[in-house]
Parts: sequence; C-alpha cells; structure tokens
Amino acid sequence: MRTLELYLQDAYQRSASARIIKVDQRGIQLDQTPFYALGGGQPGDRGWLHTASGRIAIDSTLRDRASGEVIHVPAQGEEYGKLRQGEEVNAAIDWDLRYRHMRCHTCLHLLCSLIPFPVTGGSVRADSGRLDFDIPESILDKAEISEKLQALIDRNASLSFQFLTADEVRAKPDLVRTLQVAPPLGDQPVRLVRIDGIDLQACGGSHLRATGEIKRAWVTRIEKKGKLNRRVELALQA
Ligand SMILES: [Zn+2]
Repeated sequence: MRTLELYLQDAYQRSASARIIKVDQRGIQLDQTPFYALGGGQPGDRGWLHTASGRIAIDSTLRDRASGEVIHVPAQGEEYGKLRQGEEVNAAIDWDLRYRHMRCHTCLHLLCSLIPFPVTGGSVRADSGRLDFDIPESILDKAEISEKLQALIDRNASLSFQFLTADEVRAKPDLVRTLQVAPPLGDQPVRLVRIDGIDLQACGGSHLRATGEIKRAWVTRIEKKGKLNRRVELALQA
C-alpha cells in the first residue's frame, strides 16, 4: 500500500489523522501523511505522531529509493516497537520549520527562472538555499540577481498546480529544469507547478500560495564549483 502524500494537494495542511500500515526498523509508514519526505534537496519533515499511548517525536521523513515507501523516522530513543498495523494516529508536522522550507523552495524557483541554464544541484534549508548551474563562464552578477529576485517576490505572483501523466512530461523535457537531480520518472502522475507569469516546471516539492510570502531574499554568494558549475547561494529574512 502506498502512502497518500497530502502535501501534494495542500502544502499548508499541518496535521492529519492516519492509520499505521507498517512498522519496522526503518520507522513508521502511514496510509496518508502531511509529512514531506526528503527529496529534491529539501529536508524531510520533522514532527510528532500522537498515538493512543503517547507522543512519538519524528526526526526526519525519508523515501525508500527502491520501493518509494515514505518512512517517518522516530527520534533516537523513541520506543515505537509496540505500535501496530491499523492503529490510528494523528500526524503533525513541525510547521514553523516546514513553512521556512516552503519559502526557500519557492524562492529557488524564482532564482531558477532568472538564470536560464541547466540546474545540476540544489539545497533547501530553513533560512538559506542554493542552486548549482551549469554555466561555462562567470556571467552572473550578485546585486543584479538580488534586485530581480526581490522584484519577483514583491509581485506576489500566485502559484497553481496541475497533474500530468509521466508520458506527458517525457514529451516536454523543458518542464524538468532539474533533470539531473530529480528522481527518475515512474508511472505516478507528475505535478506541474506554475508561478503565474514567471515559471512553469515539474516539481514535487512544497510550495507557497504566492511569492509575497517569501518576504525578503537576496543572493549572498556566487561561487565557482568546478569548470562548468556556478553555485548561487541565497538567504531569506527570518
Ligand atoms: Zn518546487
């Protein structure tokens, strides 16, 4: 049984009731979850599972590469071996942290739209993020990108989503800017993320409703990483 990933429909959902479908040494699987599983450079969510017998702190959420299973990894020392399949829990994410990740992730879409080169890597953190671009020469200007980035934030453009089949996405390779870091396309539907008038790409990350929620962001560093790579780092206002 596959976990229904609720954040894909509503990234603002902070908690959900769910049933346990599997417990093993890796952690706990649920029939549905608001937790984001590590991927695309964004950390997996932390939070809590409220059970009939108490509360279990979740340190991270992972996706098993082979099976695609979403695994809630309990914090060290948590006793969760007594949990049983079918048991009902309330799954609540650490919303403050997740919201910061959403702001950073959405901001990286804006950055990506300003730099028309292939993306080779990236990372989302609570108050900073980065993208690596395949650019042969140093043509990026920190102040100029910062200014353009803030203009896109201030435009408060709305985000909308649409689901396509994997075949439809394969037919439009332009939709996957981060092809080299994205997981391989399976048979699952792929979500298309549109930032009105700014950006359109396939992405499974967690996003804001509108760019204004980023508030303020700026480029802190542009660094040469190897012959073809330029790493662009940004910071977000707390
Ligand atoms: Zn995204």
